[in-house]
Amino acid sequence: MPFPELLIDGYRSFRSGRLAREQDRYRELAERGQKPEIMVVGCCDSRVSPEVIFDARPGELFVVRNVANIVPPYAPDGQAHGVSAALEFAVAALKVKHIVVLGHAHCGGVRAFAEDAEPLSPGDFIGKWMRLMAPAVEKAGPVGALSPAQYLARLEQANVVNSLDNLMTFPRLSKLIERGQVAIHGAYFGVAAGELLIRDERTGEFVPADGTSPFKR
Ligand SMILES: [Zn+2]
Repeated sequence: MPFPELLIDGYRSFRSGRLAREQDRYRELAERGQKPEIMVVGCCDSRVSPEVIFDARPGELFVVRNVANIVPPYAPDGQAHGVSAALEFAVAALKVKHIVVLGHAHCGGVRAFAEDAEPLSPGDFIGKWMRLMAPAVEKAGPVGALSPAQYLARLEQANVVNSLDNLMTFPRLSKLIERGQVAIHGAYFGVAAGELLIRDERTGEFVPADGTSPFKR
């Protein structure tokens, strides 16, 4: 099969549009290197690209994406850990000032876990990966009177909090956070309305980023 036409067309559009407008910035970034101040941990989901949601320019966001925006706990066990490697690079080399965990509505990974369904695909990896969000179920609390959609939203947000808690298990990072040199934040993107919620550190509630939106789940 040939290289996807969608990508060729997209690249042509990028080259004549954004690249043309930002050529100087790209050259400068190539010469001086990147110095992003913000790292984003997001989901692989094709609807929740952090660069698109935050309208970011090249060089502004250091992004790692995985199924269900999970930060696994610190585990120096000699195995290869992709998220931990990205974190280490962001914190130790780039010296980012903010780490944002970006969850989202209608997350297939969270739903599969919540419904105790078969993993998203038959295979060797997803089931084990999703078990990392087990502590989020505790954080989400009982289903109670919540509708399935409301419970899923609560679980998706608890999963963000679980990733924030796991960030604190990284010794070097937790020291920087305690000293106020790095801040960690939770955020949640509602896909349909395009609404962004940000976790209020004091209350633990996810509230609209612009403070005016009626969006609630
Ligand atoms: Zn997702």
